[in-house]
Order: sequence, then structure tokens, then C-alpha cells
Amino acid sequence: MRTGQINVQTENIFPIIKKFLYSDHEIFLRELVSNAVDASQKLKVLSSNGEFKGDIGDLQVEVILDIKEKTLTIRDRGIGMNAEEIDKYINQIAFSGAEEFVQQYKGKEGAEQIIGHFGLGFYSAFMVAEKVQIKTLARHEGSQAVQWESNGSPEYTLTEIDKSERGTDIVLWIAEDALEFLEKSRISEILDKYCKFLPVPIFFGNKTEYIDSPEGEKDEDGKLKKVAIEVPNQINNTSPAWTKAPADLKDEDYSEFYRDLYPMSFESPLFHIHLNVDYPFNLTGILYFPKIKENVEVQRNKINLYSNQVFITDSVAEIVPEFLTLLHGVIDSPDIPLNVSRSYLQSDSNVKKISTHITKKVADKLAEMFKKDRKDFESKWDDLQIFVQYGTLSDDKFAEKAKGFSLLKSTDGNYYTLEEYKEKVKTLQTNKDNKTVFLYSNDEEGQYSFIKTAKDRGYDVLILDGPLVSHWIGKLELSEENIAFSRIDADTLDKLILKSEDIPSKLSKEDEEKLKPAFESIVSKDKFNIKFESMSQDEAPIIITQPEFIRRMMEQQKLGGGGFYGAFPETYNLIINANHEKVVGLLNKEEQEKNKTIKQLTDLALLSQGMLKGEALSNFIERTIEQVG
Ligand code: ADP
Ligand code: MG
Repeated sequence: MRTGQINVQTENIFPIIKKFLYSDHEIFLRELVSNAVDASQKLKVLSSNGEFKGDIGDLQVEVILDIKEKTLTIRDRGIGMNAEEIDKYINQIAFSGAEEFVQQYKGKEGAEQIIGHFGLGFYSAFMVAEKVQIKTLARHEGSQAVQWESNGSPEYTLTEIDKSERGTDIVLWIAEDALEFLEKSRISEILDKYCKFLPVPIFFGNKTEYIDSPEGEKDEDGKLKKVAIEVPNQINNTSPAWTKAPADLKDEDYSEFYRDLYPMSFESPLFHIHLNVDYPFNLTGILYFPKIKENVEVQRNKINLYSNQVFITDSVAEIVPEFLTLLHGVIDSPDIPLNVSRSYLQSDSNVKKISTHITKKVADKLAEMFKKDRKDFESKWDDLQIFVQYGTLSDDKFAEKAKGFSLLKSTDGNYYTLEEYKEKVKTLQTNKDNKTVFLYSNDEEGQYSFIKTAKDRGYDVLILDGPLVSHWIGKLELSEENIAFSRIDADTLDKLILKSEDIPSKLSKEDEEKLKPAFESIVSKDKFNIKFESMSQDEAPIIITQPEFIRRMMEQQKLGGGGFYGAFPETYNLIINANHEKVVGLLNKEEQEKNKTIKQLTDLALLSQGMLKGEALSNFIERTIEQVG
């Protein structure tokens, strides 16, 4: 036996590791299992290289919990270490044997799958353990097994031991302040989170399986009885879908993998993209498009980031543009550093390239789907639109591409691209300033009468709803100079699409002044801006509108949660059609009769907007009943 000093510059690095190296203590298990997997993978490389001539056997990793002894052991059948290697790889902190191995075996199959990088992972064991032992037998013939032990001071002991099986046991004596790591459920949870897709089988505990009775016992129906047996519990799937070639996968495989990733999710995704890049960086992955709900926040942060099949994080905001965090799935890149800070990730040039590339891939996939099967794309559009709108708003490159496949859904049931739609409506719906007006509704039922008036005039009306619409159309209006969007209830139809010819009014200024006070006496002046307009006769006698600008401001403020909301009073226009016969007829009515008619017409206008409520509605109904028969 000998003792020595672990080779670090600072007097005692362990408190530093314990406190600062990793914010999450649970990742010690990720690091130790990764090392065990690396040791197994290295043996495969050496074997296929002819450097290791023995029998590899079943390579597997075991995690063993001993609650009585308060130990957690990570056992592998990998390459092991002799005393010399322990000195080099363990006693020199920050010397990564993994990095060295990858350099040495560059280009050899499997070498690029080694996980380690920094030579710090092993020491993360001291975040949770008061004592750590390494018991290891190296792969070389006639090698002497050794045991390394340290209690978290820079001192260690190295002893020769008896160990007949090749490979390494890492034994942790769990510290008093980390007892959670002696709970079976906690360890299961951590393994499931970080190790679920590692490439070497990993076992933890046993699970119950039901098999046909080996004695041939039968139940009442004469069928073979099922008996329960305990079998080792493998916690991982060693070849997850993203590591395979797209050509080898069917749609079912992708759906199955989705369920593997999100066992709690009942929804199936709309479609997926399989990413596969090897230049200028390595990246594989599968991104799924979920059906996006109004409340986008709950669906965020479902992309899992992996590095060589080891889970790193599910907060990928630094790696993919924000709008892509609405997608689900996995990204795996060995080029994304494993254990580094957020700010480092943001400035890393590889990470930037990855982000740009993923955005491009997603846009290309959508464009391809649109081109290949437009009908199918249209059928998915309602679920996709929030995503495309979000992308258009937040990423100019995406916006440029999205122009080609952004769709507008018409109340006639068809879908149009921007270009197609402009072509369709430009003859009738171009105003005197040469802007083509895209009329839209966000509520087909509620705005029925507006839609009908427009259609009767030969105009077309779009259906645009969802939380991002007003932002999105604002952006389109900026990039497409000759179009303007107007919600169908934003003004009278004549004003929405202003043509050059003026419509003559049947009311004089004096007539209007005479009628106005009667209107003012029945609606609140703060809420309604009362005005007469000379409109086409096919419009209703009174129309209540909310100016496009005010409404958009309010919607946008609501979405942004900004402080302005509420400072904006809810205001409407109450527009009186100066050419409607009922309005013109008011001039010849007795005072009482006139007021009655005005009240009724106004209530009808409010009613058609769903704005007649409470007592006013009840009075209206009673009055109307009296008039019946
Ligand atoms: P890294 O994995 O980044 O190289 P670690 O601190 O995790 O750094 O491990 C340091 C080195 O110790 C590894 O590169 C490897 O050479 C050696 N090592 C650690 N665990 C094992 C193990 N289970 N079997 C064989 N070698 C190991
Ligand atoms: Mg490591």
C-alpha cells in the first residue's frame, strides 16, 4: 500500500467541487455511469482494433444500492485501470482519459462515442459521498487489481487487492447531508432522467415479470398459469430512434419513440423532423411538432438535449431559437459541451451554428411538406399556424422562408398563400390608396352579420384567430407594402375598403344635429363615439365597431402583459347609417315615437355584437314581447 497527494494546485479542491462545479448534485450519477459506459465502449474499440484479445463477454453496467452499508456502487466490465493508470487518470485532476483516448483512436469506429471531456466528472462523486473507493482490474493479462480510496481530502490510499472480474467498481459512502441518494426511487428517477438512452445496458434492481408457469400449471380455463418472477431491471434503451438512419425507421417507430420520451403525454405529434448533420458540427436528433394550444407556455421546454446519448438538459433556450422551444424531441450533439455554464453556451460558436442550422432545417421541412402534399399540409395548418406565426415574428430568416407556406384560411373553406389570396381579392378589395384589403374575422359566429354584409357585396373574409394574429399581421403589413388587414368589425364596410367615389348622404348636417342628442341620451359618451356616416343602403341602420388600431394595441398589450394594458379605455364607434330608410324616417316622427325607435335600433346593434347585457337585455326582451302580436 502507498499513500499520496492528489495532484491539484489548490490546497483542497473538494469543497470547490462540492459547491461550484455542478449546481445539481444528482448529476454525480450521470458522471459515474458515463464513465462506466465509456470504459465499456473503450473495450469494444480496443477489441475491434485487435489490441484486446480476450473475451469481451456481456458488457453491462450495474448500479447497486446497499441501504444498510449506506453505499451506492457503480459496476462495469470495461477496461479497468492498473495502478499506473489510476495515477494518470484519477490522481491528476482535470486530466481527461477520455479526451486522450479519443485523440489516440481518432477515426476508429466507436471512438467518437466516448462521453468524457474534461477530466472532472469522477470527482463529482465527492458532492454526495464522504468516502469513495475504486476497485478495479485492468484488461491486461496478469494485471494486478488495485483499490483507490479517498475521503475527500487531497489524500488517497492505493492498495493491491484481490478481484477476479475485469472492470471497475466505484463505491460511494453516501454522506449524511445527501441521504436522498440512498432512496431507491430517487436513484431510479435520476437514472431515468440522464441514462435512459445510453448505449450500454444499465441495470438497477429487479423488476417483476410474468411468465408461463414452468411447471406447466393450468388455470380454470385450461390456459397456462402466469407466474411472477424477478428479473434484472434494465433502465435504458441502448439504441434510441435518433441514433438510427431515417431510412431504417417507419412512422410507428417515431411515434413509439415519442411515447418513450413522454410517457405522460396523451397527444400524438403532427409530424417529425429527423436531423442528421456531420458538417460543420455533429448533430443528430428528432424534433416533433406538437399540436400547439393557446397557452404556449405549458408546452415549452420539452426538447431534451443529449451529448452522446447522455441527457444534459431540457432547457435548450440557449441552443435553439426561442420559437423552436415549442417543439418536442431530442437533440444530440457531442459538440455541445457537457458541463458548462449557460453564459458559456450562449457565446459558444458551435451552439450558434447549431441554432441557425436547426431553424433552417425546420423551415425547409415545412416548405417541403407544403410542396409535396398541399392538402395534407392544409389539414395540419390550424394546428401549425401559431408555430409558423411565432417563427415569422421572431426570426427574419425563418420569416423569409415562411412566406411561401404561410396560409390564410378563408370563410369559403379554402386555404391560400399570401400571393394567391392577393390575386384572388385584388380586383374588388383594393382601396383608393391601392392597398388590397384583407378582411378577416376571428369569430365566425359572433361576427356573422358583418361577414354576411361583406359577402353579399362580393368580398371575401378570412378566418384568423389565435393569440399571435395581431402581431403577425402587423409584421406582414410591414413586409408586404400593398396589403392591409382589417378585422371585419373594425369599421363600416365602406370605410374598411374605401373607394374613391363618395356616397351622397340623405341627411343634412342640420338633420344630424337634430337626431344626435337622442342617441347621446341612451349610450355612455365615454364608451361610444357617436357619428353619422353616409353608407351604402345594404348596411344596417346602426353599426358598432371597434377601430382596428385600438383593438390591436389592446390585444398586443394583453399578450405582452405590458404595463399599458388598462390605461387604454375600451372604446367603440356607434355609427349611424345616414342613408338607411329607418334612420331617415326618424326625421318625420313624433318625439316619443322617435326616441322609442332609436332605443330599439341601438339595442339591436348592441345585441348583434353580444354587448347587450343584464338589465338592458331584460328590458329589451320585455319590450319586444309586448310588441309581438
Ligand atoms: P473524463 O470522463 O472527462 O475523462 P472523469 O473525471 O470522469 O473525466 O474520469 C477521468 C478518467 O478516469 C477517465 O477518462 C478514465 O480514464 C478514468 N476512469 C474513470 N472511471 C472509470 C471506469 N469506470 N473505468 C475505467 N476508467 C475510468
Ligand atoms: Mg467522465
